[in-house]
Amino acid sequence: MRTQVAIIGAGPAGLLLGQLLHKYGIENVILERQTGDYVLGRIRAGVIEQVAIDLLDEAGVGARLHAEGLIHDGTQICADGRRRRIDFKALTGKTVTVYGQTEITRDLMDARAACGAPTVYEAEDVTLHDFASPSPRIVYRKDGHEVEITCDFIAGCDGFHGVSRRSVPPASIRTYERVYPFGWLGLLSDTPPVSDELIYIRHDRGFALCSMRSPTRSRYYLQCSLAEQIDAWPDARFWEELRLRLDDEANERLVTGASIEKSIAPLRSFVAEPMRFGSLFLAGDAAHIVPPTGAKGLNLAASDVRYLSLALREFYQSKSTAGLDSYSERALARVWQAERFSWWMTTMLHAFPDAGFDRKVQHAELEYVFKSRAAATALAEQYVGLPF
Ligand SMILES: Cc1cc2nc3c(=O)[nH]c(=O)nc-3n(C[C@H](O)[C@H](O)[C@H](O)COP(=O)(O)OP(=O)(O)OC[C@H]3O[C@@H](n4cnc5c(N)ncnc54)[C@H](O)[C@@H]3O)c2cc1C
Repeated sequence: MRTQVAIIGAGPAGLLLGQLLHKYGIENVILERQTGDYVLGRIRAGVIEQVAIDLLDEAGVGARLHAEGLIHDGTQICADGRRRRIDFKALTGKTVTVYGQTEITRDLMDARAACGAPTVYEAEDVTLHDFASPSPRIVYRKDGHEVEITCDFIAGCDGFHGVSRRSVPPASIRTYERVYPFGWLGLLSDTPPVSDELIYIRHDRGFALCSMRSPTRSRYYLQCSLAEQIDAWPDARFWEELRLRLDDEANERLVTGASIEKSIAPLRSFVAEPMRFGSLFLAGDAAHIVPPTGAKGLNLAASDVRYLSLALREFYQSKSTAGLDSYSERALARVWQAERFSWWMTTMLHAFPDAGFDRKVQHAELEYVFKSRAAATALAEQYVGLPF
């Protein structure tokens, strides 16, 4: 098989890149290890920046997001049982939209099916070859047969555990990592959200987040120890623990119900540099991870895809390699801003083992955000998304 760009991974990064390239008349094939249903079943991101929405619009998949997405003008932060509001719109003139990653993925999959661009699901044992040269190859197994794809470029959009980054010789890549001493226990339920806006909760028992996917579907998270097992958290225990961290008003409004999904995610900050290795380009979680506190992971995947899709268009339209040559530097500049913001939000809002000095500094930091318009604006400006 021959194509211009071979994309590994059908998560948001791979699907969005595929859709934009198709729009620009660039042939591409997507290889995905899982089934489409499995990919759609992963419950993850929900807060989408305006710049990511603009890109989805450009890819022609924004209609349902605009019809069903919930526009949020602000968010709420609760500390010591008292809730304060950060008004994004008043502070920055911008908003964010709540629309599930699952729905974005579905919209992208539907658009890809409609335009007939090829996606190979259940592609096993994907291996990357010759990407230091201008003629890279990918080999994979499908239904017991070995298949080879030759291409001009490989886009590694296969997430943190994918094969692309691991294929790079260790001497050519540098990684930076911070692993946090806790995870998030998430519960999805068909119950109305406790508030119209997200509530971030700083509590001595641990952080909590009240989020949502729609007016009838809620997503709640509890900071938990890395040793927690999901079986030890029947729904009743989850709700009981959440109640202990909520303020009085939220407790009164909380509607509990059966979970439709529950999972534990460890929190990590991670960046691999550079993001280009000859004909191989990394994008999204394949190159970087942020803790979800800043709601940046999917949005960063979108900004990588923007830089990469424009660079590929420039290459095929005018034979210029300028965009490809500067891809890694441009993408990493935005990545590190989001890494810093996500680390800061995580550090400010979670309970750490050192309940002494660090706890006092957290308190001071939050008070500064609540009392200083400049500090609140800095939070809002980064939360709604820095410009590309
Ligand atoms: C609990 C949680 C909450 C989050 N909340 C937010 C939020 O509010 N806002 C936000 O912006 N982000 C959020 N994120 C992060 C966001 O979900 C990710 O950043 C996003 O999924 C990254 O997309 P991606 O396409 O780069 O990677 P992925 O979604 O991981 O997709 C990679 C794809 O590659 C496939 N793959 C892997 N290995 C191979 C292989 N060897 N061969 C072929 N295919 C392979 C995988 O099956 C997968 O489908 C959250 C994440 C978590 C865990």
